[in-house]
Parts: sequence; C-alpha cells; structure tokens
Amino acid sequence: MSDVILVGGGVMGAATACFLARDHGATVTVVERDPSYAQASSSLSLSSIRQQFSQPVNMALSRWSVEFLRRAADELATTDDRPALGLVEPGYLYLATAAGAPLLRELHGVQRAEGVDVALLTPAELSARFPWLATGDLALGSLGLSGEGWFDGPALHRAFRRKAQACGVRFVSGEAVGFDVAADRVTAVRCADGRVIGGDAFAITAGAWSAPLGDALGFTLPVTARKRDVFVLETPAALPGCPLVIDPSGFWFRTEGALILAGGPPRGEDACDAPLHDIDHGLFEDLLWPTLAARVPALEALRVRSAWAGYYEMNDFDHNGLAGALPGYANAYTACGFSGHGMQQSPAVGWSLARLIAGQDAPLIEALAPQRLLDGRRLVEANVI
Ligand SMILES: Cc1cc2nc3c(=O)[nH]c(=O)nc-3n(C[C@H](O)[C@H](O)[C@H](O)COP(=O)(O)OP(=O)(O)OC[C@H]3O[C@@H](n4cnc5c(N)ncnc54)[C@H](O)[C@@H]3O)c2cc1C
Repeated sequence: MSDVILVGGGVMGAATACFLARDHGATVTVVERDPSYAQASSSLSLSSIRQQFSQPVNMALSRWSVEFLRRAADELATTDDRPALGLVEPGYLYLATAAGAPLLRELHGVQRAEGVDVALLTPAELSARFPWLATGDLALGSLGLSGEGWFDGPALHRAFRRKAQACGVRFVSGEAVGFDVAADRVTAVRCADGRVIGGDAFAITAGAWSAPLGDALGFTLPVTARKRDVFVLETPAALPGCPLVIDPSGFWFRTEGALILAGGPPRGEDACDAPLHDIDHGLFEDLLWPTLAARVPALEALRVRSAWAGYYEMNDFDHNGLAGALPGYANAYTACGFSGHGMQQSPAVGWSLARLIAGQDAPLIEALAPQRLLDGRRLVEANVI
C-alpha cells in the first residue's frame, strides 16, 4: 500500500499512523514539530471517557473506544511492552436542577435508544448512593453504569506511538508550513526548514493548530485553540465511588487516586490562544471552590496542590470532530476539532480514518465528514464539557 504522510503526532495522528501500519501495511511518516509534545492537548488532557453524549455518532465512537481501551494491552503490545492504561469505570454523573431535568430526561431517551448503559436517579437515590453529595437543590441525576470513567491518556498516546514505530512508522521532527498540489491531489508537504516530503495520501492531524494547514490547502477548518484550566486538589475527605461529576453550574470534578481534579468553563470571553501559563486562579477561588463546597460539604477543607492548562481544539462550527476526506481533494484527509472529547475517541477515529485512507468503508466516522462544513449541516453536541 501507498506512502501516507500525517501532519501532527498527537494521539489522533499516532492512532491513525498505528492502524495504517498495523492493519493495512502502509508506509507512514508522521511530521511532528515538537517531539516533546509539551503543549499538545494529548499531554494535557483529563483523559476521561463517557457515553453520555447527545449525538449517536459520539456514543458509537466512545463505545468502540472503551472496548478497545479494555483490551489495549493486547492490541498495542510490542515485543518489549504491554501498555498499562489504568482504565477505571466509575461513570459520569450529570446533575440537574428542576430547570435542567427535562433536557436530562430527553438525552436519557436518546442514549437508551442507542444502548447506552445509563440510569436516571432521584435525589433520594443519589443520596443513598453518594452520601457525600448535597442534593437539596437537585431534581435528577444521570449516572453511567459502565463504559465511562478515565484512563492514562499520555500512556495511550505513547502506546500508539510505540506500536506505530514497531510497525515501521517514521516520526520525523519538522514543522509543516504548506503543501504541493497538482490538480486534485496533494503531492508533498513542505516543512519550515525547506524539506519537501512527498507521498500518496496526506492527513492533517494537528489538533488545535490544524486551521493554518487547512488554509494552505484552501479549505477552512474552523478549529481554534481554547485554553482550559485544571486544578489539582488535596483534601482529607474521602469520596467513595466518586464518578466524574458534572454540576448543574457546568463545573466538574473527579478523583485521581487520593487527589481531586476539578475545572469548568472559563470566565469571561473564551479567548483563542490564551497562553497556557496564564492559569485563572481567581476562577478557582471565586467560583469553583464555593461551588464544590456547596455540592460536597466535605470539600470545604481542601488545598490547591497545583494546576495546569491545555488547549481544547474547538470546532467552532458545531463542537464535534471533523474526520474524513477533505472536500476538493482525492487524497487529503483530516481528524481534528474534537472539542474536548478527542482523547477518548482517538482509538475509534484513528482506526476508521486508517480504513478510509486505505480505501475501505468507515461508517463510524461518516457523520463527522468535513463535507458538512460546506453543506452547512451542523451536528451540534449538547453535552460539551
Ligand atoms: C484540559 C483538557 C482536558 C481534556 N479532557 C479530555 C477528556 O476528559 N476526554 C477526552 O476525550 N478529551 C479530553 N481533552 C481533549 C483531548 O485531549 C484532545 O481532543 C486530543 O488530545 C486531541 O489530540 P490531537 O492529536 O488532535 O491534538 P494534539 O495532541 O494537540 O496533537 C497535535 C500535534 O500536532 C503538532 N502540530 C501542530 N501543528 C503542526 C505543524 N504545522 N507541523 C507539524 N506538527 C504540528 C503539535 O505539535 C501537536 O503535537 C482535553 C483537553 C484538554 C486541553
């Protein structure tokens, strides 16, 4: 099979490269400008996985992916490594006041119809199951009973890279700045240092930085970098069975060993490209901590141990991934714009995009085809965290 060039070696590029080489025998080169991946979303992710979406395509991708994660040690084994991804499945718990309960019920109907293992809980049932949770203002909760939780995302990214390399994929250091094109075919990627890397098929897998590469091919990818802060908290409180809790305010928290991770939507304008070192500590002091302490009174006693930020690769068109062929080209593809749910979907998307590039069908990602941008067909995801 042909030479495939992927631009961007985060989890999307690494997964696609891995499946192309492992399953289709492709010769693959990944062009990555920062082999340390220091600012890649894949290094800064919360790495949680859920089935509770509003769009069936997202439920299907996350279902496929959680099944893959459960057997990843076999799927991604190399001669000297069986990757341990630390997958746990305590569920996601969406909480609603009376105002939010109708939407929760509606989404529950859609999710059950798609076979998602999810249950609606009354406040009394919530209290019985999670005695540490304040439920006085709540009308309903939606708890994932299986297939939801979290894992070690950077370990998944590493495992895809290692497996890819074991299958012959080349990761080269370089910044792609443009492409050579002949009629409807891309023939080469051009790097900032003057190198020109030719191939038979090309994919943009550059996360939050995919838009300039789309521009270089004359195709607008409406993907922008949106900073999200994550706070790492220490507390003497124990929260047995704690799922990833989504408060009605939009704030979320989950455990990570003995620690708690928490965050939420940014304050003020959701600025593009805000610097990653610019953590909004006021967000925690003024809003997040009071909300957490009201929801879990035991969290009145806590200390911020550290904080980090990363970029969501936000698809401003409809907050869903763009995966598939780039319209106008016979041999150009992308997987970008996953808007905060790309880590968990990378196994299914990488597997599907590899099939598509190899000339096979890829029904799992059909709904995510970039063609919908041209058709004005929005696939709006209501559950974006
Ligand atoms: C704080 C935070 C929490 C998150 N939580 C979750 C979660 O709980 N669950 C979930 O599923 N997802 C989550 N995400 C989203 C998830 O991490 C991303 O969707 C996923 O990592 C995107 O992977 P990617 O490979 O597309 O992008 P990236 O990991 O950003 O990789 C893109 C790569 O492309 C390279 N690149 C860019 N431009 C060029 C160029 N011109 N030439 C060469 N290389 C280039 C970059 O250096 C980078 O390494 C979270 C993200 C953040 C920031």
